[in-house]
Amino acid sequence: MRNRHTWHATGLMLALAAAPQPVSAGDAGRLQLSVHVVADARVPRDVVERAKPETARIYQHIGIDVVFVDEPSADTITVRVVETPMKDAKGFAMGVSPRSGGQIGGLVYVFYSRVDSYARQHAKPVPQVLGHVMAHELGHLLLPYGSHAKSGIMTAAWDRKQIEQIGRGWLSFTKEQAEAIRARTAALRRNRVAPAVLPLYSTAAVWP
Ligand SMILES: [Zn+2]
Repeated sequence: MRNRHTWHATGLMLALAAAPQPVSAGDAGRLQLSVHVVADARVPRDVVERAKPETARIYQHIGIDVVFVDEPSADTITVRVVETPMKDAKGFAMGVSPRSGGQIGGLVYVFYSRVDSYARQHAKPVPQVLGHVMAHELGHLLLPYGSHAKSGIMTAAWDRKQIEQIGRGWLSFTKEQAEAIRARTAALRRNRVAPAVLPLYSTAAVWP
């Protein structure tokens, strides 16, 4: 069995409304990111609840307070935790962030069955891995297209190094990614722009 799971951002080129600008979290209070987590009935609720603080901690580290909401508002990003990957989710992807030309998505999917097997395979708590996968997929929506990196949480496929960092709570965004994510988060709050919910099977979507 392969040891590596991968994530794939989908879609065509993303045109950000504005180039990311350095944003200091201290300038106007801390930045907040509104996130709505919806889970399939078959996904254990307690695991999802214990994953949320993991995601929050990762974003707190880069100056962003994740606020988990029950009722989504205009600037909320939705994380949908589904038990089974959709049929065209290739390979070992543990999640996907649909996007389309010129539009940023407002919805990401996480595939619970794959997160569960990956966590068990690497002897890590499922909530801990789930929290990191949610942070990774949210990262895709808050970063320009093609945001996989050679190191850190946006690595396309986590190997032994990332797994070890997950266990220690060290896996995070790079400095440049953190800056871009803060800028995008600030813009979401400032403009109250509704992140579009893009159809997963949109013809604009491509699976790399
Ligand atoms: Zn990815």
